[in-house]
Amino acid sequence: MSERLSRAARQQILKDDAPWVGKPLAMGGLDRALQANTRHLALLLSDTRERRRASQAAMFALRLLDATAASGIKAPAACAKGCSHCCRTLITATIPEILRLARAIKGRDGIVKRVADAAARSKDIAQSAPNSTRVVCPILEENLCSQYAARPIVCRSTVSSSRAACVRIFDQDHPEAIPSVPPAPEIRATIVLMLQTALRLAGLPHQNYELTQGLAIALADDGAEARWLSGEPMFAAAEIDQADTRPSRLAEMAERLAAAIQPSL
Ligand code: SF4
Repeated sequence: MSERLSRAARQQILKDDAPWVGKPLAMGGLDRALQANTRHLALLLSDTRERRRASQAAMFALRLLDATAASGIKAPAACAKGCSHCCRTLITATIPEILRLARAIKGRDGIVKRVADAAARSKDIAQSAPNSTRVVCPILEENLCSQYAARPIVCRSTVSSSRAACVRIFDQDHPEAIPSVPPAPEIRATIVLMLQTALRLAGLPHQNYELTQGLAIALADDGAEARWLSGEPMFAAAEIDQADTRPSRLAEMAERLAAAIQPSL
């Protein structure tokens, strides 16, 4: 582990970071913005005085994704209001994203009950099951996402150029890739890289979990965020299969980014 920088050096880095934090990311030449925003997230997640730091970190990452997508995605997308084919697949998210969505839902009894019912109906469905056999996301209401502002990264960054392809993929189980509108996949990968790296630096689990099962767990316990932050493995029942968590190119990039930032925390 690298040695921590002096307090003065760390303060100077934070000052230098300021112009980059929360600003839309330009894909290409990302290094400075990547470090500044990842450092901001890691410090947010490490601030033990803040009880809601996990859901706050998720909100920061989601806003950054929206701002980056708004400035970076120029080509027309087929996605439109009332189109919800992709809400039928296996949706995964980090725990901060799940906790953020759970906070948005809390107190809305109809949705809370729908989440519990969907979790019970889907818990024995294999994660590799075809999309057409899956339980639709319980957040969906009349083909609209009822929690649009709090939806996870994967929902915000799935931008398709062909509705016909989405019908084939999600309704008819056709094995093809979503024809993504560029640079939506790069934006998603970058935001995921930052959030997962910040979670690792804060000593928190960084993997993705199954959304519906994770929401059901978070909604059943008012102290879910505090318990998870204290290290309790309370989302174990929402873990995704090992095959989906194997080290990837993203994990290697996260290692390098973490090593670069760690001395400044
Ligand atoms: S959270 Fe919203 S956008 Fe995401 S799968 Fe559920 S209904 Fe669809």
